[in-house]
Amino acid sequence: MTTIIDGERVASEIRDALGGSIETLADAGVRPGLATVLMGDDPASETYVNMKQRDCEEVGIEGVHVDVDGDAPAEELYETIDELNADPAIHGYLVQAPVPDHIDYREVLRRIDPTKDLDGFHPENVGRLVAGDARFKPCTPHGIQKLFEAYDVETEGADVTIVGRSEIVGKPMANLLMQKADGGNATVTVCHSRTRNLEEKTRDADVVIAASGVTELIDGSMLSEGAVVIDVGISRVEADNERGYELVGDVEFESAREKASAITPVPGGVGPMTRAMLLYNAVMAASEREGVAVELP
Ligand code: NDP
Repeated sequence: MTTIIDGERVASEIRDALGGSIETLADAGVRPGLATVLMGDDPASETYVNMKQRDCEEVGIEGVHVDVDGDAPAEELYETIDELNADPAIHGYLVQAPVPDHIDYREVLRRIDPTKDLDGFHPENVGRLVAGDARFKPCTPHGIQKLFEAYDVETEGADVTIVGRSEIVGKPMANLLMQKADGGNATVTVCHSRTRNLEEKTRDADVVIAASGVTELIDGSMLSEGAVVIDVGISRVEADNERGYELVGDVEFESAREKASAITPVPGGVGPMTRAMLLYNAVMAASEREGVAVELP
């Protein structure tokens, strides 16, 4: 029997547990503040920031959203960042990617106060993660670690193949999994668009994490019997429904579930975990900045 990994359920448990930490902060007179910044009007990004703001409201985090005109000069975005860095009510924030073409995203990340960098993408935070001393673990890979914990997926000694080497998913995932720490100690193979014989690398793995953004790149024939399959991919494909699109992952679900011992669906797998771990990072940032100890899930 293949286990369908229920990211909605695990995320909801994490949100509930964070509720307790938020109450502890409230008792000390602290309300965590989380800001989202969106430059431009990319529809998928708008959906993501709206969801993040809704999540804040649900758990009792003060959500603040700042829109920046997509045609504005970089300085306008930098001013917003400087204000958020200086605002004591904002414990952490993120600038939603992708940013418009005329903006240097790396420069944006460098400008964010690393103690408020809830995505964990500032170079200081990337360095700390690689060194095994993470401040904020990036939300998607951290969420995947939490799924492994919730479903007793042993990473120690496991052969894990990650398909994708992006700064936000593939690389931090590889770093977390190779660390000499709980949730790590895996033997990690990282694949990308120049990898030869991808199917050999995935077939050799106990755990496959697909984060390529290529619709249904991985099918059952590329998996070993009993593999754990984590599908990070989210692509919008045209569909004959009210929204006009549906969300599709990197994994061809039906053939993959026949081989897998456990698999995440899209939607309802990794996505909700990413959102829950953003709240986690906001609560942690508030706890550290205000010097109020809380228990984190
Ligand atoms: P990027 O486009 O930044 O990275 C994609 C990676 O996949 C690159 O390393 C690329 O290789 C590699 N790749 C592309 N094509 C192939 C191929 N044919 N074979 C092997 N590797 C390939 O994407 P992101 O990491 O930002 O996102 C990946 C997917 O995950 C997207 O669908 C995104 O929407 C989704 N996502 C989902 C989240 C969630 O919460 N569920 C959160 C974040 C992202 P190369 O480096 O050589 O170009």
